[in-house]
This record gives sequence, C-alpha cells and structure tokens, in this order.
Amino acid sequence: MSKTLFITGANRGIGLALTRTYLSDGWQVIATCRNPENSTELTTLLDEFEKLDIFALDVTNYDDVAELSIELKGAEFDVLINNAGYYGPKGYGFGETDINEWRKVFEINTIAPLKLIESFYPQLKSARGLVVNMSSKMGSMGDNSSGGSYIYRSSKAALNAVTKSLSLDGLIDGVNAVALHPGWVQTDMGGPNALITPLESATGLKYVLDNFTKEQNGGFFDPKGNPIPW
Ligand code: NDP
Repeated sequence: MSKTLFITGANRGIGLALTRTYLSDGWQVIATCRNPENSTELTTLLDEFEKLDIFALDVTNYDDVAELSIELKGAEFDVLINNAGYYGPKGYGFGETDINEWRKVFEINTIAPLKLIESFYPQLKSARGLVVNMSSKMGSMGDNSSGGSYIYRSSKAALNAVTKSLSLDGLIDGVNAVALHPGWVQTDMGGPNALITPLESATGLKYVLDNFTKEQNGGFFDPKGNPIPW
C-alpha cells in the first residue's frame, strides 16, 4: 500500500512542488489549500495522478480543520507537512512593528500548525507518522547575524519550539516531529532572486524526509540534511 502525505498550502510555491514530487513517487497525497477552485496548477494534477485528493482548507479556520479531520477519520498520515506560511510586512524597521500583522503572521505560522497537528493526531498516531513543520533559517537564533524581521523571525522561532515539544510528547505514540528550512526558494515569498527553484527545494526536502532517522527527531534541517542551529 502506498504511503500518505497530508499537506497545507499546496496550491503554489513549495507546497505545490512537494505535492508533485510526492505524487511522482507514487504517494497518496491529501493536498489542501484555501481556494481549490482558483488553483489550476494544483487541480490539473488530478488529470495526471490518481492518488491525489484536494480539500479546501484555510488553516486558521479551526472549525473547518476539525471538520476535515472528522471527514478523514480512519485515514493514516505517514507524513504531515505544515507548509502554509505568511511572511507579513517587509521593509519595516524597529519602532514600526505592526501589531495586527504580527498577530496574523503568528496565527498562520505558529498557532495554526499546532492546532492542525492536534486535530489530525489520530491519523498521525495510527501511522506512527512524521510531522514536518516548514520553518526557516530566519527562525534560528544562532543564524541571526543581521537583526530585523521581528515578525517573521519570531513566528518561526516559536514554531521551532512547538516542533521540539511535539517531538517529545509524540514519542509515546511513535509520532516524530522535525523542522525544515526549505532553502531560499523562488516563490512569491522568496522572490525572483532566490537561489533555488521550488522543485529543487522539494526534491531535497523529500530526500531528507525519506532518509529520516529516529535520531533526527526534534531536529532542524536544511534541504541537504545539514542541521541548523536553534
Ligand atoms: P508562498 O508565499 O509562495 O506560498 C504560501 C502558501 O501558504 C500559499 O499556498 C498560501 O495560500 C498558503 N497560505 C497562506 N495563508 C494560508 C492560510 N491561512 N490557510 C491556508 N494556506 C495559507 O510561500 P513559499 O511556498 O515560499 O513558502 C512555503 C513555506 O516555506 C512557508 O511556511 C514559508 O514560511 C517557508 N519558507 C519559504 C522560504 C522561501 O525562500 N520561499 C524560505 C524559508 C521558509 P494562498 O495561495 O491561498 O495565499
């Protein structure tokens, strides 16, 4: 039987590339995004791959998340990727932090991933699955040599804390958790000057996840499998 991936933000960027990469390797993929009806690149994959199911999901709508978990009762998730993310405002400086944008970024990047994991824990538990939180080097304290970006950095640092706690709490059920940095990727978020394509990022991330070992549980890695300092 093929393995199953559940992923958020699958309509564009890294999420779309990961969806295609896992489907190409024969995985069952449960791909979610806010507006499937406007996501042609994702929905056209249905013509190419039988093992794709698409569901509408705004990760910050916790009632919808809980409802989808009930709809998918009995499913088993080998890998769950919290990919959906939001950068928030760019170019602001210290003293100009927009509180409402900070709350919004935290909601999407930190609170929603944990609530999603809580809702889909039965599906993770029954597969002894792996939770993947899409983090960023910008959430690393050790890697921060330039300052700034208070909003995005703090949301991903907090997501890293979520990942670490889950990696310990999940042990009893065989559920593992890992934080990944996808590289600097040419997407709407990464911009055109980024160093790698979404496909290159997805290929690297899948290789890291395919070769995941229990010793890596609770770690933070780049697309080559190199550990990143917290
Ligand atoms: P994009 O901006 O290209 O795509 C963001 C994705 O998140 C879209 O699918 C978007 O959906 C989705 N999303 C945003 N808010 C919600 C929500 N409330 N509910 C559901 N989906 C939502 O980003 P990337 O593909 O570049 O980034 C993917 C992940 O990788 C993010 O977590 C990001 O922080 C991380 N990352 C990216 C880097 C890069 O260089 N690109 C570097 C480091 C980390 P919609 O189309 O509906 O807006």
